[in-house]
Amino acid sequence: MTGYPTSGKSRRAIEVQKYLTERLAEENKTMRIHLVNDESLHISKGAYKDAREEKKARGAHLSAVERLLSKDDIVIADGLNYIKGFRYQLYCVARALSTPHCVIHAATPLNLVKEWNGLRGAEGYDEQVLDELVTRYEEPEGRNRWDSPLFTVIYDDEAIPGDKIWDAVVLKKPPPPNLSTVSKPVSATNYVYELDRVTLEVINAVVEGQREFGSGGLPMVMPNATQKVVNPSRNVTLSELRRLRKQFVSINKVRTTLDTSRLPDMFHCADNTHLHKAPTTYSIRITTTTTTTTTMKIIPINVLEDNYSYILIDEKTKEAAVIDPVEPIKILNVISQTGAKLSSVFVTHHHWDHSGGNIELVAKKPGLAVYGADARIPEINYVCKDHEEFKLGSLEITPLHTPCHTKGHVCYYVVDPATNERAVFSGDTLFVAGIGKFFEGDARDMYRILFHIIGNLPDDTWVYCGHEYTKQNLKFAITLEPHNENLMAKWAWCQDKTVTVPSTIGQEKLYNPFLRVNEHALQLIAGKTDPVEVLHTLREMKNSFR
Ligand SMILES: [Zn+2]
Repeated sequence: MTGYPTSGKSRRAIEVQKYLTERLAEENKTMRIHLVNDESLHISKGAYKDAREEKKARGAHLSAVERLLSKDDIVIADGLNYIKGFRYQLYCVARALSTPHCVIHAATPLNLVKEWNGLRGAEGYDEQVLDELVTRYEEPEGRNRWDSPLFTVIYDDEAIPGDKIWDAVVLKKPPPPNLSTVSKPVSATNYVYELDRVTLEVINAVVEGQREFGSGGLPMVMPNATQKVVNPSRNVTLSELRRLRKQFVSINKVRTTLDTSRLPDMFHCADNTHLHKAPTTYSIRITTTTTTTTTMKIIPINVLEDNYSYILIDEKTKEAAVIDPVEPIKILNVISQTGAKLSSVFVTHHHWDHSGGNIELVAKKPGLAVYGADARIPEINYVCKDHEEFKLGSLEITPLHTPCHTKGHVCYYVVDPATNERAVFSGDTLFVAGIGKFFEGDARDMYRILFHIIGNLPDDTWVYCGHEYTKQNLKFAITLEPHNENLMAKWAWCQDKTVTVPSTIGQEKLYNPFLRVNEHALQLIAGKTDPVEVLHTLREMKNSFR
């Protein structure tokens, strides 16, 4: 319903209710009818004196409609509904529920409205408020999709056009749902796509509302969200929304176990409450404390100038392995503090700065199993075959052959079957925001590794690499993609950090240029479209980057 204050809307609303009730009984239909008005919502006429109160009132109306409406429930929204933007919001609620709607305009000339209001005495509107509401009244237009179909009832019409309204709201097929109103169950592989789609739709809804109606402080309708109606505290710019969306997506990309139906709620929640808060875009795993659920503990140790060794502990059995122990004394010191028992050495490749401590370590701790896939590795006594899984206590280790940096390079992929937490020790193959040099391979080899081996690991896999090269890598990446907001956020994040491991596979895909060779921006820079050629060119550029 819409019309001037005291235009007879409420009388018409009751007529509509009466007509539909009788007709439903006649035709043996079981739909329910609800009448929503200021009285039922305990909104006094005084609310229209104050802009804030009035906005609350609109929010209450919209919420009530949203709560009551369904395919089996007819809601008569008897309010002023004088702002076309608000009628648009009501229409969005119906559209989101795939149920039809119509607009009934109680058309009464101004002089009559004033006369009727005067007759109500103290029950009526304050004269000034009435004038104001009339000035602000935006007449419905049938050509607007949110005002259509439109039925105008003149003040002296004997009756409402009951059968037309019946046709519109009971018989007419619902308006075609836009994509946002259709939610499908999703599989985990669909997750990132869903995340993108759903957040884009929320943004589009906000933008659509603001573009058509400006910043009237309108309540917003959020597609797919369970709480559809939100009252934004202020107008939000498109770039703000885009930034929020990107941040939201990058934070949640790694949470593949998340129920995607919750995404719209979470997103507009982030939208509402975190607008001014700096988001934690990049989470870091707490590696030095153990939670009750974590059985896989990883301790990074800075060695040499910028290398990393890692201690991997299975908390269940206290069995430990060390990855690339180039400074054995340092490693043994840390292990002795953990109470774990060192049983194995995982060597990623034969380069001195990774395997150069093996002889000393084995001399101090005889009987260690030394894993690797290159005869050049000192003390190697366990040659691991590609994908041939073995165990460290309860942890499952899968060696992934990744020949390119060296021919015998291995990345060790670890899964904790108790918690499904996973990590990869990527040596000199994948760094945070970069990759290793192609000493014994070429761009084709690296492409296969990045897109068919490492890139295939789940997005939430923690990445522990062989060197702390992050800042230098990001500097180079920024010259390529200065407009990549994920990249800039990572850059900002790492400024005060000396240890930037781990990242995740999912994060790397957002800013590591070598995992982004299919991006148009990077193809333009390389002057190539073939991803292998792009990878080759970017590697050459990085080699000469200072
Ligand atoms: Zn190396």
